[in-house]
Amino acid sequence: MSTYDPQNIFAKILRGEIPCTKVYEDEHTIAFMDIMPQADGHTLIVPKNPSVNLLDADAATFGPLFTTVQKIARAVKSGMDADGVVITQFNEAAAGQTVFHLHVHVIPRWEGVALRKHSGAMADSALLQAHAEKIKAAL
Ligand code: AMP
Repeated sequence: MSTYDPQNIFAKILRGEIPCTKVYEDEHTIAFMDIMPQADGHTLIVPKNPSVNLLDADAATFGPLFTTVQKIARAVKSGMDADGVVITQFNEAAAGQTVFHLHVHVIPRWEGVALRKHSGAMADSALLQAHAEKIKAAL
């Protein structure tokens, strides 16, 4: 199990040290656009409580976290006019985790549209902003 590094990129976003394309924030969570989206509208939900991933998290984190996941999943589905949404969450590098602060992916799906690669290409920031606006309008 890795130890929590407060210099990880999501900790920096939570402290406002680096920017993100935010769609939602409350006392316990923040949601922003994934910079390498697997589909248009791919959004990440990050709890403010620090943990590397699900395995070392305080169980009290999950209630508020999944309340936000549901809220964002509904807004992504309707705001992006998707047919469905996939929720993913990776634990440790061997499982595909690349940022070591717990987070949940909400990825919209449309019939017949394939997912892009995980941690593949960077998206254009204006496009991310446009998708964030659609999701925010649906919140
Ligand atoms: P994983 O740790 O495998 O669940 O994936 C981390 C996700 O964070 C990937 O999908 C990346 O595209 C995404 N990501 C990495 N850096 C940033 C960033 N600065 N802002 C938004 N998303 C990011």
